[in-house]
Amino acid sequence: MGEAWERRLRDRGYRIRNTLGEGAYSKVKLAYSSRLSTDVAIKCINKQVAPRDFVEKFLPRELQALPLLSHPNIVKIYEILEATDGYVYIVMENARNGDMLRYVQRKGALPEEEIRNYFWQLVQAIKYCHTNNICHRDLKCENLLLDNDDRLLLTDFGFSKSMIFNSGNIVPSTTFCGSAAYAAPEIIKGQPYDPRMHDIWSMGVILYIMACGHMPFDDSNVRKMLRVQLRNRIRFPPRVTDVISDDLKHLIKRMIQPDTTKRATMEEVLGHPFFGSLNGSRTPSAGNVAQHILDFFAGRPSSSGTSRRRNE
Ligand code: ADP
Repeated sequence: MGEAWERRLRDRGYRIRNTLGEGAYSKVKLAYSSRLSTDVAIKCINKQVAPRDFVEKFLPRELQALPLLSHPNIVKIYEILEATDGYVYIVMENARNGDMLRYVQRKGALPEEEIRNYFWQLVQAIKYCHTNNICHRDLKCENLLLDNDDRLLLTDFGFSKSMIFNSGNIVPSTTFCGSAAYAAPEIIKGQPYDPRMHDIWSMGVILYIMACGHMPFDDSNVRKMLRVQLRNRIRFPPRVTDVISDDLKHLIKRMIQPDTTKRATMEEVLGHPFFGSLNGSRTPSAGNVAQHILDFFAGRPSSSGTSRRRNE
């Protein structure tokens, strides 16, 4: 990235500091906002190097969805800038403790109390999305950001999708989304899938990683991984198996369940004994998503007058 972009952001009151992370077609920079008097993270996306489907399909979706989602465990967007040189800048709240992948790589398997706290927040964020008809479809440790006070922030809605129902039944998704390591067997097999069940499986993989400090499946050979997934025998390393509770093991197995008809539903996850007293507590309510986001995801002209094409 040259100096012009930095000048442009400086003119808007952002002082750029170091790089926080890198995505496929983006760099995420730490910056200080004089307007907000706080640090922010700026995701700088270069549309010129990104493939067409990303620029035309997934990026617009992320740009539309992110500012409309409002939940304490979903990253907050301050502004989105589109420059004429092909760059898009997403200015968002800065998660001061990096992402969950780096955290687990640094700390190894996490203590159970910490897992419970973080995972509960993730479940709340996904419940909010599902309740509002949105599936994330790219849940992975890199997309879970950590802020001070042990707060978890879900990010990266590039693969999110609205759910469509027909006579009360969900219309299955057909697009392969997300990373293979977090993908459920029905997706690896290329079958039409219920995107809610995809999110549940990926959350199960995340839960396993937090508990064990490594991935449940080796994705270097995806066909082999599929065979292992279908065997439905989740193994915990010896150093972990005596340490974690049976409730935690049970919840992981209920989520990493290859048969979608037997996989835990969101209700079962929320009510699982692993959460103990948490599932009786009231979490901060973010309210319902505004009508315009539902309109956007359903491809309906919104009340604000903008209309969006719904595509898979
Ligand atoms: P991509 O969608 O291109 O994969 P991400 O949005 O996942 O990019 O960001 C890439 C990395 O940048 C993340 O894994 C994380 O380490 C870092 N990052 C992204 N957003 C923030 C943020 N708001 N605060 C701090 N770090 C962030």
